[in-house]
Amino acid sequence: MDYNAILQEIAEEVKPLMGQGKVADYIPALANINPNQFAMTITLFDGTQYSVGSADTLFSIQSISKLYTFTLALKHYGYELYKRIGREPSGNPFNSLVQLEYEHGIPRNPFINAGAIVVTDALMDHHPQSDIAYNEIRDFIRLIADETTIDRDEIVARSEMEHGYRNLALANLMKSFGNINNDILDVVQTYFNHCAIEMNTKMLSRSMLYLANHGTDPINGEVYITPQQAKRINAVMLTCGHYDASGDFAFHVGLPGKSGVGGGIVAVIPKQMGIAVWSPALNGQGNSLVGTHALELFTTKTGLSIF
Ligand code: GLN
Repeated sequence: MDYNAILQEIAEEVKPLMGQGKVADYIPALANINPNQFAMTITLFDGTQYSVGSADTLFSIQSISKLYTFTLALKHYGYELYKRIGREPSGNPFNSLVQLEYEHGIPRNPFINAGAIVVTDALMDHHPQSDIAYNEIRDFIRLIADETTIDRDEIVARSEMEHGYRNLALANLMKSFGNINNDILDVVQTYFNHCAIEMNTKMLSRSMLYLANHGTDPINGEVYITPQQAKRINAVMLTCGHYDASGDFAFHVGLPGKSGVGGGIVAVIPKQMGIAVWSPALNGQGNSLVGTHALELFTTKTGLSIF
């Protein structure tokens, strides 16, 4: 397949959509980003990459980081983790509080904010100091992306905390139900630290290969998680990776995927490749508008989806 030609076509075909959607504006560092940017990269199992657009530009991965923290927590806790979080789509916005009250502080899944905060708390049970817990997460991402320079943008991390009322409310509510063990401020700061990690589409698509290959990195043979855990992470990506637009994403794109409010989306084609796309303007559910369309075009043009 001529992936270069396909990516070029996609970049042309999404151009008319630039200008639609809205960048995340809950913190100044994200609100000031130029919305008219686009990048897409695919990484094959032999490491070959095809890219189009600004594939070297770093951006805030935001909720894509929830995929890496979920992986790490599964490594530490296995099935035990599901005592503290579910694996059902929430059907609610990513930062919603309502369900948590009547479901006794157990978040629906690890990809909504409440679930990711519990996952971060679980990681801090191993490393109660915020910085050490963050370093474990960052180092894991560096490992699977095969890129030692990856780190957080400290301005974004600090700014998230200054505007973090809703996430602090989620953490406090869960603490009242006994589902947060560590200090609320430390847990939420660690959560913001990993959301503030910066990557580009080349790094992100490379980092998806273990999920496309039953938990084992196809390039260096490293086993990161079991095949069963990889199956489950992919299943949760498919059903919960785009919050209350997860059904719509599965319907249009047909791949397990995870989005972030920085405008990035990662997706997995089992046994074939990792994909990452980026365009900062978001649709109403907080997922990249152009990125979602680009992925839909990719699966349509290549015939590669899981269905
Ligand atoms: N840091 C963001 C928040 O907590 C992440 C949300 C997202 O990417 N959907 O609100």
